[in-house]
Amino acid sequence: MDFRMSEEQQMLKDMVRKISEKEFAPRAAEIDEKETFPWENKKVLEENGLLGIQIPEKYGGAEAGMVSLAIVTEEVARVCASTSAILTTQALATDPLLIAGTDEQKMKWLKPMAEGSVLGACAITESGAGSDVTGIRTTATEKDGGYVINGNKIFITNGGVSDIIVVVVYTDKSKKHKGISLVVVTKDTPGFSVGKEEKKLGIRGSDTRELIFEDCFVPKENLLGAPGDGFKTLMKVFNYTRPGIGAQAVGIAQGAMDAVINYCKERVQFGKTLSEFQGLQWMMAEMALKIEMARTMIYRVCATIDNEPDSRDIPRLASMAKWFASDAAMQITTDAVQIFGGYGYSREYPLERMMRDAKITQIYEGTNQVQRIIIANSLLR
Ligand SMILES: Cc1cc2nc3c(=O)[nH]c(=O)nc-3n(C[C@H](O)[C@H](O)[C@H](O)COP(=O)(O)OP(=O)(O)OC[C@H]3O[C@@H](n4cnc5c(N)ncnc54)[C@H](O)[C@@H]3O)c2cc1C
Repeated sequence: MDFRMSEEQQMLKDMVRKISEKEFAPRAAEIDEKETFPWENKKVLEENGLLGIQIPEKYGGAEAGMVSLAIVTEEVARVCASTSAILTTQALATDPLLIAGTDEQKMKWLKPMAEGSVLGACAITESGAGSDVTGIRTTATEKDGGYVINGNKIFITNGGVSDIIVVVVYTDKSKKHKGISLVVVTKDTPGFSVGKEEKKLGIRGSDTRELIFEDCFVPKENLLGAPGDGFKTLMKVFNYTRPGIGAQAVGIAQGAMDAVINYCKERVQFGKTLSEFQGLQWMMAEMALKIEMARTMIYRVCATIDNEPDSRDIPRLASMAKWFASDAAMQITTDAVQIFGGYGYSREYPLERMMRDAKITQIYEGTNQVQRIIIANSLLR
């Protein structure tokens, strides 16, 4: 799939760069320090129609496609990774509805999320089930024309600030992955409660929660797709959301590289600016190379999703883009701290925050080990 940024996409990039610099950059350090959810930033994303950029207009979005979502995510992550997690999580919550929801379900839950008036979360992980989704223990048992959900989820991004939660459950455990289903639970449902907030290394402005379901009853209309279709839907969701995590990683890396370039032109040691030392120039060249490669991979898979949504290349390309971009971000932010020296280690500067924020991109939405498994499987099938 060939890719070239359209005039509209370039305008979108410029617009989000301006918004991010003006609104998100000045608040990024404080959000990290205080570990508070950035409601003000969420409002800015909503007001600018950025929370459903890839969702069809009919369901409240901008219908601008996956490349546009990657552009927006990168620009926001460049200054504030915690704020970009609102975008990536909203995509993780809306995509199951987009893929498996009926028209009625889409109008009811997808539309308000795409418009940005409410936030969503997607609850997969449990204490005994991370990389292996089939290890979940949460069940939804049929009763009185609906389902009774019991179980606990952990590490759920935006779990405490969302109105709509897509929950991964077993409707029939004996069928293993073919017994997994997706149900929508709204926050006011009796039997649903929000547990402890996770204290984290990075993206400290994102709300990471335990969610508890105790005899939580939802009507049958809350099931997404047919019973047992959940695993298949979820894998498709990840194909669409992993490039977004890649874009988040590229944004963090770009932010770090931009800071390095400015710093190296100013800082003088041995009577020269740091930018004159070839050892550091080569580190910067490597940063630029990796960012360019990662961004190209992300645009390629996003353009494939936009133009050939049924292409069999998508899972492999999505895993490659997420893996490469997140490893690049980790190395680039670590090198950026090194180039800043002691100042890089100091919380007075944003580099240490960027390094902490980059780490999660190697872990969530499938660790980079899991991405290797997916790529290998696609080669061997
Ligand atoms: C900040 C944050 C936000 C999150 N947000 C969400 C969310 O919104 N929703 C949600 O459902 N989950 C969320 N998660 C959970 C996240 O997706 C999981 O942590 C991740 O998938 C890894 O699962 P795990 O932590 O149980 O690690 P494990 O699966 O226990 O893995 C441990 C280690 O073993 C490796 N490993 C596992 N299996 C294999 C294998 N077959 N071969 C080789 N190596 C392997 C892993 O790569 C890892 O290094 C979040 C986590 C964090 C930290």
